[in-house]
Amino acid sequence: MKKLVTLFMVLALATVFAKAAVAGDTLADAKKKGVLTVGCKDSLPPFGYIDEKSRQIVGYDIDFVNAIAKKMGVKVELKPVTSASRMPQLQEGHIDIIAATMTKNAERAKVIDFSHTYFFTGQKFITKKGTVKSLKDLEGKKIGTAKGSTSEQNVKKAIPSANVLSFDDYPQAFLALQQGKVAAVTTDEAILAGILAKAPNKGQFEIPALQISDEPYGLGMRKGDTNFVNFVNKAILEMEKSGEAKAIFDRWFGPTTQFHLERTFKISADK
Ligand code: GLU
Repeated sequence: MKKLVTLFMVLALATVFAKAAVAGDTLADAKKKGVLTVGCKDSLPPFGYIDEKSRQIVGYDIDFVNAIAKKMGVKVELKPVTSASRMPQLQEGHIDIIAATMTKNAERAKVIDFSHTYFFTGQKFITKKGTVKSLKDLEGKKIGTAKGSTSEQNVKKAIPSANVLSFDDYPQAFLALQQGKVAAVTTDEAILAGILAKAPNKGQFEIPALQISDEPYGLGMRKGDTNFVNFVNKAILEMEKSGEAKAIFDRWFGPTTQFHLERTFKISADK
């Protein structure tokens, strides 16, 4: 009996250690390895996309995480993720941090930890020019978005009669719009604006002034990875103070877009 009790105690302790190992201390581990593995988007300008000349993934999310890694004294290794794969990839330890257009919300915060907000946008639609004036015009229509996104959840709530088609990522949804297979694509306005800017036939499309949600972006880290979360938050605050965060913003969005005012206001409100 005594042996059995001891065995149970050993097993219980092993479980506790195994759980702790999952959260781990990414700050210490990455410093030891000299590398921080980052889950990012690779087809969403200006957040994370492949630069035609350098063939490297570049963008706002990448610059942000590069600046944090520099403060840690480590290199960055980029791993493309989708909206649906980013949380499992983090939890399974394939990546150390998510910098991938990810909205922080209470549901996700039950599973992972988030940094302070580092970007702010809201959900809208791309449609063929002149076809959509109000949400009523999208009732019963096919709308494209990405699997595992808040966009998918929000649009189902905002337009319950819509037939929501979920793709791996937004460029595929936009292709479906170009082919006339959906009436609209929906996600964060800053992503839609980036897709539209690169489209050769952009003159045929527009982003009507219909916003269905607020989307504050956070960097995602493993739940309970406290040292790392604290370090990242401190780094973000330092970047806000030193002007580095604004410089990154201006590099990708320019100093005059409407995102700028929202960024300054909402990000300072989050602290
Ligand atoms: N920000 C939203 C989200 O986290 C939409 C963009 C995305 O899918 O990454 O779900």
